[in-house]
Amino acid sequence: MLSFDDTPLAAATPSNSMDAHGTNRVNVVDKKVINGTTDVNQLVPFKHKWAWEKYLAQCANHWMPQEVNMQRDIEQWKTGQLTEDEMRIVKRNLGFFVTADSLAANNIVLGTYRQITSPECRQFLLRQAFDEAIHTHAYQYIVESLGLDEGEVFNAYHEVTSIRNKDEFLIPFIDVLCNPEFKTGTLENDQKLLKSLIVFACIMEGLFFYVGFVQILALGRQNKMTGAAEQYQYILRDESMHCNFGIDLINTIKLEQPEIWTEDFKAEITELFKKAVDLEYAYAEDTMPRGVLGLNASMFKEYLRFIANRRMQQIGLEQMFPGVNNPFPWMSEMIDLKKEKNFFETRVTEYQTGGALSWD
Ligand code: FE
Repeated sequence: MLSFDDTPLAAATPSNSMDAHGTNRVNVVDKKVINGTTDVNQLVPFKHKWAWEKYLAQCANHWMPQEVNMQRDIEQWKTGQLTEDEMRIVKRNLGFFVTADSLAANNIVLGTYRQITSPECRQFLLRQAFDEAIHTHAYQYIVESLGLDEGEVFNAYHEVTSIRNKDEFLIPFIDVLCNPEFKTGTLENDQKLLKSLIVFACIMEGLFFYVGFVQILALGRQNKMTGAAEQYQYILRDESMHCNFGIDLINTIKLEQPEIWTEDFKAEITELFKKAVDLEYAYAEDTMPRGVLGLNASMFKEYLRFIANRRMQQIGLEQMFPGVNNPFPWMSEMIDLKKEKNFFETRVTEYQTGGALSWD
């Protein structure tokens, strides 16, 4: 039997009975998202088919930043066609995102991946890690195209309070998984892992990205910075897939190990959502000291509560802010690119690669 250092459980304790060939063949019922004992190198038979389907969907969404033309953005940026407030939004946005997707990538590669024992879930995480690299690439491409001060943008997560506070909230949940000693298998550690997955999928990718997404897409809707907005549209599509995958992952762990989901644990998660809404609202206020683009910070109070409700409901928690409405219904059209061809009149945004074309 081969031994794999990063998956001691899978290697050490095969639960499958010997077959006629004298080897341990994977029995689908034994596959688990965490604490599984089956061989992580055997993708099939599938148990978590939803993860495989999301992997295929995400490959069909493949895109590269340099395929988006930035010429008009550069001209608008350099010839004073944006207001000070609009430029502040762009710079703050990039200040948060240039490092956020790198944190996300590190969290997956150095933390989450080795704890996940379902090969089909691992397959999605591998794709997701590449998506995060593409996103960091996209932000770098925008920074370079516009000729922004790289030192200022890449250090914003240290130097801009509203951004630093969001990252300081996230980092302990990344660090816990990146500790090489960390291993699931006890109630305490399984709860730590699940908490980290919820913070990452529902709060980071599912909430902390959304003030920024709305702002840049609102610029694009007014025909400003359409190249950047087009890239953010692809990123939004990717991130909503990451968030949905994370939610399926969380809910499957709950199903496979219901003992993790205690009342105390739920209360703790609810507190984290509350804190996160406050942090993201502080970020909204910092990026929009005045109304801009028909947006203002107080609209985001409602929007963030709307999103938090939805994320909480998606993982089986009570909504924290009942009766809140979505002040930006156009955002759902942005996520579903198929409905909105050529939204920013830059190119056809129903962008899918050859492997995904339908021939019927
Ligand atoms: Fe992501």
